[in-house]
Amino acid sequence: MRQIEQKHPQGTFPLCNGCKREPLHVVTLGRHRDEAGAVMREGQRHSLECPRCGTSTLRHPTLELAHEEWGTRFAQLELVLPPQRRALRVVPRRASA
Ligand SMILES: [Zn+2]
Repeated sequence: MRQIEQKHPQGTFPLCNGCKREPLHVVTLGRHRDEAGAVMREGQRHSLECPRCGTSTLRHPTLELAHEEWGTRFAQLELVLPPQRRALRVVPRRASA
């Protein structure tokens, strides 16, 4: 497993909530253990990592997904979406015979 830093122009990613630093785009190459389980995966994974506090997203198959996780978990978004409401499960009542 090898990790490289992919450079981006300043302002590409939202700043870290705590330290107001822009995260680094870290590309992980090769086989590694997925955080979610014991599954070994191949190929490139992308994560965003704050150079100051070390806050990091999980490794995602695309930068877009990492960007999204960073935006929702660690950065202050301009547009804050309300938490998704869990749909109520409607069970039709039937008269017991
Ligand atoms: Zn930080």
